[in-house]
Amino acid sequence: MCGIFAYKGSRDNAPEIVFEGLKKLEYRGYDSWGVTWKKNDGSISLQKQIGKISEASKEGIIDEKSHLAMSHTRWATHGGVTQKNAHPHLSSGGKVAVIHNGIIENYEEFKKRLGFERFRSETDTEVISELIEEYMKDLNFEEATKKVAKELKGRYAFIAMATGENRIIAARRGSPLILGVKEGEYFLASDIPAFLQFTRDVNYLDDEQMVVIDDKPRFYDLLTDSEIEKRLVTIDWNPQEAEKGDFDHFMLKEIMDQKETIIRAIDQNEEAILKIAEYIKNAKGVFLSGCGTGGKVCMAAEYFFSVVANRHVNFAPASEFPIYHHFLIPESLLIVVSQSGETADVLEAMHVAKEKGAKVLSLVNVQGSTVARYSDFSLLINAGPEKAVASTKAATSQLALLLLIAHAVAGKLQDGKKLLIETASQINDMLNPRFLTYIKEVADDIVHSDHTYIIGKAANYPMALEAAIKIQEVSYIHAEGFPAGELKHGPIALVSPGTPCISLIAEDEVKGDIINNTIELKARGAHIIGVAPFRHESFDHWIRVPDAGVASPIVNVIPIQLLAYYLSVLRGCNPDMPRNLAKSVTVK
Ligand code: GLU
Repeated sequence: MCGIFAYKGSRDNAPEIVFEGLKKLEYRGYDSWGVTWKKNDGSISLQKQIGKISEASKEGIIDEKSHLAMSHTRWATHGGVTQKNAHPHLSSGGKVAVIHNGIIENYEEFKKRLGFERFRSETDTEVISELIEEYMKDLNFEEATKKVAKELKGRYAFIAMATGENRIIAARRGSPLILGVKEGEYFLASDIPAFLQFTRDVNYLDDEQMVVIDDKPRFYDLLTDSEIEKRLVTIDWNPQEAEKGDFDHFMLKEIMDQKETIIRAIDQNEEAILKIAEYIKNAKGVFLSGCGTGGKVCMAAEYFFSVVANRHVNFAPASEFPIYHHFLIPESLLIVVSQSGETADVLEAMHVAKEKGAKVLSLVNVQGSTVARYSDFSLLINAGPEKAVASTKAATSQLALLLLIAHAVAGKLQDGKKLLIETASQINDMLNPRFLTYIKEVADDIVHSDHTYIIGKAANYPMALEAAIKIQEVSYIHAEGFPAGELKHGPIALVSPGTPCISLIAEDEVKGDIINNTIELKARGAHIIGVAPFRHESFDHWIRVPDAGVASPIVNVIPIQLLAYYLSVLRGCNPDMPRNLAKSVTVK
């Protein structure tokens, strides 16, 4: 995680550009921040602080004139949240400043070699600036940085600048790094929103690549030690999509975006979908993998493939997937889901599959992301930028696209399209002001509870798990999801009079069973919130959702996203920046 951003170019307000741009990367980490810039005399100035960049004072930064600056917003992995551990890290001799996203696995070895007394922070990152400075005793800045990049173990995207040098140098292995290009101006960042207001033309750096930005960028392959050419890609996001407009939070904006995003998700090239369907049919073993919300989407898709296409696919969380390498053969297919397309665990799962010669299909939201580029086939879910840490619109877009693919596998692509177009229109109607007010009332009713349990069955069981994640991550209320039928095997012991229990129900073949389980909860005094297309006497609150048939997980999860949002706001939390979390988990 962590957001890194650097600017070099014709404008003389580089410190302000990287300070403001960093705010757009805050979703990647927000425990501390820092900015560094090259002064007119060639020396390096630096400011770093604990806290959120969005709440930071610009004083002493924005008036500084410079053509070269870098900034960092941290999600600590090594070393506590302190000013000393915040990035940028300046070498002990004051010559080299570095910002870094990732984990340097062999940092202890270097600290030992260079002498522990040289280090002022507890971070792994500091070895990068120290090593570059050390190697600059014999080598120039470029050669020294190259040598360091090659010696580091682990994952990194780092950017370095040095006193008296008019260039910035960056390298990547495992963490995202994108170069935005405008005439005479260069923007290096972990993600596109940092510089979207300036340019949409980008170069994606791949693993084991380095870029030296002088008057123009030069790219190197660190493995072959040779200069390489990179293709400029124009991305199709617009800056407004990455802003929250009139909404109080990105999370609410992105929930409301779902009025349109389902349609965008299924607006795919039919030939590509049919080709993928054919591949799934012919594969010997299809696996689905993702992390967090993406994982729950994959679990729901297991049911989609079973119910719609009579097909068995296996889900494993991406962090658990590598152990399945025993099963993988060249005819296996791995389908991965990742909003950012940069999730470290997903990339690792893909790596394991590819090592075995298996093919990988990915569903991503970020065009040109590492996952997309590393896949054999990739589909964009087209949800537009998702900035809130808690995934909402990306999840329902992934669900929609996987449901469409399941229909294609069953030879019913047009039926799938029709169903999803209808579902999109039902969602558009559902997300009306009255609906939002009602969900807020429900939130008000349960906001003081310490625990919430959610049950679901069939494809709504993974949605119960997803609902729990949503409530946990933004409101910090203890929430757990269960398969409805499992309650009586243990979890029902947790329920006492007044405990809020949410039941995710659909008009489907398991409806009778989950209604019975809901009644069982009611009999123990649970306060029942029924999310269903019909009313039932066991409900204390009825959140009415449309009858979407097999697409019910898509409509059932949306009210819980809203419930989680309102619970968060009512409890005085910031739903866009939950504690301890960051979007796009680029560390393992
Ligand atoms: N390992 C570095 C630190 O703790 C960077 C963390 C990250 O990228 O998430 O400061």
